[in-house]
Amino acid sequence: MMAESNVCIVGSMNMDLVVTTETMPQQGETVMGKDFSKNPGGKGANQAVAASRMGANVHFIGAVGDDTFGQTLLDNLTNEGIQTGGVEIIPEAATGTATIILSNQDNRIIVAPGANNGVTPELVERHRRLIAGSDVVLLQLEVPMETVVFSVEEAAKSGVPVILNPAPYQRLPDSVLQGVRWLTPNELEATELANDAPDETVREKWIVTRGAHGATFMENGQEKPVDGYTMKVNDTTGAGDTFNGALASALGVDASIDRAIQMANAAAALSVTKTGAQHGMPTKRQTEIFLQ
Ligand code: ADP
Repeated sequence: MMAESNVCIVGSMNMDLVVTTETMPQQGETVMGKDFSKNPGGKGANQAVAASRMGANVHFIGAVGDDTFGQTLLDNLTNEGIQTGGVEIIPEAATGTATIILSNQDNRIIVAPGANNGVTPELVERHRRLIAGSDVVLLQLEVPMETVVFSVEEAAKSGVPVILNPAPYQRLPDSVLQGVRWLTPNELEATELANDAPDETVREKWIVTRGAHGATFMENGQEKPVDGYTMKVNDTTGAGDTFNGALASALGVDASIDRAIQMANAAAALSVTKTGAQHGMPTKRQTEIFLQ
């Protein structure tokens, strides 16, 4: 059997609070909604679940509040086989939440980062050995930018390559642009990245996810496509997170970049056939069968 890859993720954990309604409330209005559900989420945690199901040994560095949502999120990571020694409980903070209002006409989301803002460089420093001991570090932009900067520096000290999923999009400091090995924007994020960082070296690092069209990456200065799959789409939430977790898992075991993107693209395509971000994420075995 091939060795497991060690993936270290520094990122967010949220409880997604989803309410469905026929009518969106207007200013000052109260309406009766339909269903309510609580689902573990946050880009960091979602990508950790994807990487773990795709066969990686995952260490998570993050934070929750001292509340029931936090405990549920920690239990969820543990149940997914993810190592949570790097997750701290911050007593004075609330666990991160995303309140999502879904109606036929539109979706509205409010993220309250809470404890995710407490994922500081100091917190990461206390768990730096998890970064040093990993084959690949995977980051997103739902924790403070200074923490992203620090994590990239720590990885560089140990020669560990970093994948940065620049979502939700924010302008990146030069040290991050230079320090990361791969950037994984979706098409919208790629447009913003190209505007903010016109330097060609940024394109050399990027793997752009293109929804149903799959992904593209740069090889010898040429953009190379990896075709998408035609799927029976149920819910595309978490497709990008599946792609990133699967990519990290594959790159951590020294897969070629072509092979790693092929695995990530197939895993993400499988995820859109099921509802829920984490719920729909496939295992490595399911992905290999699909690719046969
Ligand atoms: P994000 O979810 O971050 O916006 P994308 O929409 O680019 O990112 O999707 C990420 C990946 O998920 C794609 O590269 C592709 O592999 C897969 N994917 C997304 N939407 C579809 C779809 N409709 N059909 C098949 N695969 C999809």
